Amino acid sequence: MGRGRPFFQRAVARRVFPCFLWSTMVIHDVIVVGAGLAGMRAAIEACRMGINVAVVSKVHPVRSHSVAAQGGINAALGETDSWENHMFDTVKGSDYLGDQDAIEVMCREAPEDIMELERMGAIFSRDDSGRIAQRPFGGAGYPRTCYLADRTGHSLLHVMFEQLVKYGAFIYKEWHVVKLVVEDGITRGIIAIDLSSGKLHRLHSKAVILATGGYGRVYSTTTNALTSTGDGMGLALNAGAPLMDMEFVQFHPTVLRRTGILITEGARGEGGYLINSLGERFMKRYAPEKLELASRDVVSRAEQTEIDEGRGVNGCVLLDLRHLGEEKINERLPQIRELAINFAGIDPVREPIPIRPGAHYSMGGIMTTVDGETPVTGLFAAGECACVSVHGANRLGGNSLLETIVFGRRAGRKAGEFAISSKLPEFPDSALVDAAHTIALIMNRDDGESLHSIRDELKGIMERYCGVFRNEEGLKKALEGIKRLKERYRNVYLTDRSHSFNMELTGILELGSMLDVSESIVIGAINRKESRGAHCRMDFPERDDKRWLKHTVVYKRDDRLTIEYKDVTITRYKPMERRY
Ligand SMILES: Cc1cc2nc3c(=O)[nH]c(=O)nc-3n(C[C@H](O)[C@H](O)[C@H](O)COP(=O)(O)OP(=O)(O)OC[C@H]3O[C@@H](n4cnc5c(N)ncnc54)[C@H](O)[C@@H]3O)c2cc1C
Repeated sequence: MGRGRPFFQRAVARRVFPCFLWSTMVIHDVIVVGAGLAGMRAAIEACRMGINVAVVSKVHPVRSHSVAAQGGINAALGETDSWENHMFDTVKGSDYLGDQDAIEVMCREAPEDIMELERMGAIFSRDDSGRIAQRPFGGAGYPRTCYLADRTGHSLLHVMFEQLVKYGAFIYKEWHVVKLVVEDGITRGIIAIDLSSGKLHRLHSKAVILATGGYGRVYSTTTNALTSTGDGMGLALNAGAPLMDMEFVQFHPTVLRRTGILITEGARGEGGYLINSLGERFMKRYAPEKLELASRDVVSRAEQTEIDEGRGVNGCVLLDLRHLGEEKINERLPQIRELAINFAGIDPVREPIPIRPGAHYSMGGIMTTVDGETPVTGLFAAGECACVSVHGANRLGGNSLLETIVFGRRAGRKAGEFAISSKLPEFPDSALVDAAHTIALIMNRDDGESLHSIRDELKGIMERYCGVFRNEEGLKKALEGIKRLKERYRNVYLTDRSHSFNMELTGILELGSMLDVSESIVIGAINRKESRGAHCRMDFPERDDKRWLKHTVVYKRDDRLTIEYKDVTITRYKPMERRY
């Protein structure tokens, strides 16, 4: 396998940090990176095919961000509802940028997937007749969001973990993947640090599925976990796989004052409404029919306009739940009440909750087919890190959990079939030396730029110039800022040299992806001279189907990001004006 000098000599010659040389090599058929709902669902499907499957996660599986999902998961289960209705709402919600073949797959397969989740043991709230209850959600024509109070992600993720253990997948928990090994366009495995020992390991496989979640942490106000740093998107870009539609970032309308904590859309689904400093239910001016249950992009823009025009309350607007009464709040929104009391000192039974828009979800991601395939042989992606694309320019609440299950399952199956039908490719040992060398360079630097200053500046830039409202001048400032930070990043150094749980080191590795992800968002946003879904250009306020009904595709070539475009798949629903 080696080329030229033996591995050890080359490593020493390149001053690789000694600890990283005690590395092992293990072989699996399929490796899934990420143990959120998408990763675990994919792994379970691959395990069912009787092959050797591993899941690698930088946190324990049940600490993945999926656990925080509150409001629910969509499926057309109601007698008067249909998958076609669900599809139409999703296409409209996407501002016609979603690929309709993919949306059809998701909406058709949703009911069966919910039933399967239930058979696996997932608990859902019930209606009076004992059926799975469904609540209204933003942008949906029917109540079709299944839920467990306001703890749906918790319920689903724990069930998925039990299933994963049952099927006997190998679980590498608290292993941080630092490199996706792709040579000659063929995936060969990954390199990961075992965080407890600090050792680097080679995991060799026929297929890799990336299921690493979103990148909300590139913004300073975000609902996302500390771990949502876009690692998989960075790994994919560096391995030659493209990202799609990155300029579309979802800002959730109800994020608790100063904390970034999400107040579920379920709160509005249960009847909560939004008021400004004048006590006015302002959504009637922005979405006369759907009011607070218009799609998220519409509600976030309305709130930001109220705040910018001076009708806010200390940089927020208010979410009023008082009229729902204590009993209903305790039954349907217990966690929301607890969070508001603990983190804002406000009991929603007695006072309205101060909220504002915050970065929440990544519509864009690694470009895939409906079976999770990327253009790189043996590389698959699913869940929030992927872009199939079912959300287009704006995701409807409840469709993301659904996406993790439907497309996690499909990616797991396809990767399994691929692994069964192909031979194990060679694993180039230069990959380990390269990864170790990168880390050694950071470790051996005595002086330089600090992780925290670069990361904080990046978040500030994204928040300021690439938020709910955007314009050319601001976006260009953002791009210049990111390029400067990328230069500084070349000289980043560590103050903590420990091997065990060196979170400063993992922070630096994550920051590399955050910079690439941010640049992808900003260049896509500069180029797209229209307003569509969550991408709102003040200087181009209209949607422009003639020029911009197309996907942005970003590649990394010779260390530079470049953009290409791709057609949107339109099958059933022709683009129309979007009103709520
Ligand atoms: C607060 C909140 C509430 C939400 N509520 C809802 C809702 O009610 N309904 C809905 O549809 N959607 C909701 N969403 C969105 C939805 O929860 C997520 O999009 C979805 O759960 C993402 O799942 P995932 O499996 O793709 O990724 P995640 O659950 O984010 O998991 C990512 C996994 O990747 C691993 N990972 C990442 N990088 C690395 C690396 N370098 N090495 C190793 N492992 C790595 C992590 O350890 C983790 O296991 C919510 C999101 C948030 C933040």
